[in-house]
Amino acid sequence: MARQLTRVGLGKHVCFIHGSFEEQISAFAPYVRMGLERGERCVYWLDEHGPEVVRAALGAQGVDVARALARRALMLTNAREVFLRRVPFVPEDLVAMLAQMEAETLAAGFSGLRLTGESTWMLGSHASAEQYIHLEALLNRFFPGSRTMCLCQFNRHRFPAELIHDVLRTHPVAIIEDEVHDNLIYEWPELVLGEASARRRVEWMVAQLKRERETDRKLVELGMKLAEQVEENARLYEESRAAVRMRDEFLSVASHELKTPLTPLRLKLQGLRREVETGEAEVVPRERVVRAVQGAEQQLRKLTVLVDALLDVSRLTQGRLALTWEDLDLTEVVREVAERFAQQAAKAGCALEVEAERPVVGRWDRLRLEQVVTNLLSNALKYGAGRPVHVTVEAEPERAVLVVHDEGIGIEPEHLERIFGKFERAVSGRHYGGLGLGLYITRQIVQALGGDIEVRSEPGRGATFRVVLPRRREGDAG
Ligand code: ADP
Repeated sequence: MARQLTRVGLGKHVCFIHGSFEEQISAFAPYVRMGLERGERCVYWLDEHGPEVVRAALGAQGVDVARALARRALMLTNAREVFLRRVPFVPEDLVAMLAQMEAETLAAGFSGLRLTGESTWMLGSHASAEQYIHLEALLNRFFPGSRTMCLCQFNRHRFPAELIHDVLRTHPVAIIEDEVHDNLIYEWPELVLGEASARRRVEWMVAQLKRERETDRKLVELGMKLAEQVEENARLYEESRAAVRMRDEFLSVASHELKTPLTPLRLKLQGLRREVETGEAEVVPRERVVRAVQGAEQQLRKLTVLVDALLDVSRLTQGRLALTWEDLDLTEVVREVAERFAQQAAKAGCALEVEAERPVVGRWDRLRLEQVVTNLLSNALKYGAGRPVHVTVEAEPERAVLVVHDEGIGIEPEHLERIFGKFERAVSGRHYGGLGLGLYITRQIVQALGGDIEVRSEPGRGATFRVVLPRRREGDAG
């Protein structure tokens, strides 16, 4: 209820039709508490119950009643003294009195005037039901835009149905069975006061029909938005869980990968030291030193590659991949990189076939292009060991096409798209080392160069990676 009540603020005129004392408390107590919290002056017009009942109900809400009363932030007043003091009953006078009260309240430093009361004072009084309804209609001209609001309480067991009917016609907001309703059967003051022409009545009816329609539409829209939101939240939750899982896996893979070259590196250096310290000969033969240092360098290169990949990823994540554009020959780049791989290919038992004859010139970044070729080649040798690896470079008028094909383990269809993601791998770390970053970095570079990369593969039947690069930089003239 308290949450629902936050929907009604200053300027509102609310009827609250309740059936029991508990129900009555459940709305007026949070209503008053909320007003006190907002720095409004709260006035309670007592009639059905005595002040002690209201004090207890507010106390149970955690309100310091004595203090609120002392500050005159809370005022408990006898409704009959307010409304029935004057005979005859003149609704216009009562509205003027409220305006006066509002002015005093604001002058006393309160942010607004929050009224509520038990409406039983009118039962059996000199005020007729017509006059009472007249008053409610006038209030609907007073409240909107004012710093005053009112929650009129009606015990439905005490009032005749005719009166409740009129109450519903004269309150734009209705609380019924702890629900706050935008009152669709609320009538404009001029209708209630009998000032409206037939035409205005028709206008009102049409407006109500439209409002109802609009409410329906809004509800459907809201429902759809909620459903979307729920779906989106579920997706985000799943995504973040997957990301956390992936990060944990990555940390264990990365530390393992970084450690792998360290062991042979340490062994090489230890061996060399031992030989220098304890060897018989005064001088260690040059080729032994060279071999040990070469071995160490090889491991250092591996470490450098790993650390570079990690750095690239952090740069990419921060969107800081700077490119140096220049005119290059892709054929030449591929040939150079392939040459560097000659030894590794031989070791993997792969015949490295490069089909790139004519220069294919375009505007790219040399180091990044080398990185693309390097990543694709090292994967082909790793996952296609023992079988030939085929590389081709082709020129199209506007684009260059690089294809790296191996005949290795291949990739399951469900992993084909995923492997381009950060840290994504489709093999077990026990069989193949790797950080799962090569293809991620490769795709990012290719896309930064304005191109695209795709893969075709079947499990057990090798993989073909195809990179297409525009030869001219987008926006370059000519
Ligand atoms: P890494 O090789 O370090 O795992 P990559 O990003 O280079 O990381 O590759 C991601 C995954 O894609 C690999 O783990 C592997 O499952 C798969 N993959 C990449 N290249 C090939 C290939 N040529 N053949 C089969 N699978 C491959």
